[in-house]
Amino acid sequence: MVNKKKNWLTERDLYKMSEKELYSKICVAESIKHVDNASDEVIDMKDPYKFSYNLATILARDREVVAVRLKISDDCKVYISKNDNWYEEDVRYIDRIQKYLRNISKESPGTSIESSIKIIEDLTDEVMTYCFAKLEYRFEKLEKDIIRNRDKEHIKSFIRYARDNLEGFDPDNLHDVDKSEISGICCAYYKEAKNVPGTPEKFLGHLKKVGSYAGSVIDIAACARNEKYKNLFSNIKLRILKPVIADQLIYSWEDIIKGFVRDHVEYEKVKNECLNDSHIAERLRKIYGDENTNQLQLDVDNIKQRVCLHAEMNILANIIDQGDKSRVYIAVSKRYCYLCELYIDFARKRGYNIIISGKHKKIYRGWKLPFVADANFRIQSLKYILENLDQIIESQVKHYTKSLRADSDSRGSSVDSENRSEAEVVFGYLKRGRGRRGHEKKIVPLSEFNQ
Ligand SMILES: [Zn+2]
Repeated sequence: MVNKKKNWLTERDLYKMSEKELYSKICVAESIKHVDNASDEVIDMKDPYKFSYNLATILARDREVVAVRLKISDDCKVYISKNDNWYEEDVRYIDRIQKYLRNISKESPGTSIESSIKIIEDLTDEVMTYCFAKLEYRFEKLEKDIIRNRDKEHIKSFIRYARDNLEGFDPDNLHDVDKSEISGICCAYYKEAKNVPGTPEKFLGHLKKVGSYAGSVIDIAACARNEKYKNLFSNIKLRILKPVIADQLIYSWEDIIKGFVRDHVEYEKVKNECLNDSHIAERLRKIYGDENTNQLQLDVDNIKQRVCLHAEMNILANIIDQGDKSRVYIAVSKRYCYLCELYIDFARKRGYNIIISGKHKKIYRGWKLPFVADANFRIQSLKYILENLDQIIESQVKHYTKSLRADSDSRGSSVDSENRSEAEVVFGYLKRGRGRRGHEKKIVPLSEFNQ
């Protein structure tokens, strides 16, 4: 008995040490890894998947990342998580979204859209208010595109469409355009523009992102009105997962790199090459720079690093703890990062049938390893990720001179829905203009979550 306890403690200590090694290597890998191109996994967007994805879109505001999983059994549960704290305002918003969904689905089958107009308009208003900051940020990119390419045919055509459909639309005064109204315009125009040969992909991407809010509301409302899902949605439960955020101490950059070189001379060579590369040097400063003096501290141990369980990992940990090996789609408002992708690879090898859409291959030092109940899974997943990080660091140490380029990583959600009547309500409402409300932020204490 005593021995057993001793062994367990040793294992736990070893795990803690490996965990520290993991977070230290994540930091090093982020600082020196070449950034690959983003890619999308082609998945058949079935209605429930689409619904999850649209929900993730309307639940992510500002720079937050939200993940959603729809679990349909006897009832319909939606697990929601994000990379950050939840605020009281978020909880109230999610509560209202749940109410809208239930109310829309309670209309008897075959009822015309008229009886749902008021609820869909209220839902539209909620979403546009909540997502306003992100919508504005996405619109800025489209705005730049329009200003820079005013003489190009695809922009002229968009301006014509916007003028015809949005009263007072002035391409010379885009800053003042109502962002929620333009979301409706972009959503509708995207459907036309994507079929016009020669329309630049980048412009289409901007249209899609701005239009994704109107598009998501249309699809969500249509899903809730769909006879097939009415029963499920009439008692839909949106369940918020507790965020997991922690502070982690890490080994020095020097310590980790020295594990991959033969001697100090070689280490100095790697260090100097890295510092001569402006991209790497900038990242090193962000990760290892002293907060006050901005001095690089490549040889300083135990720098504190804030780590957070990525939204999709929070949902996956929940699935693993439930031992649920059924086919599951985890929708995220942003592409999967490199480490989440690795962890999912590992889970798939263990029989978890996880479906994801896009990935962007970036490493984030704030990534947290999920703490699942199954100790073996926990240890083996840690080992798997460490092995992959070792490979990255090893190959980058050998090829440290490569230039690094950052890439944009987010994307818009599906707006190519054909839900015409819902679209009419949403577009009509946005066109008439709507008021805006301010919002306050109050964190929800962790003790409020029952899991
Ligand atoms: Zn991630």
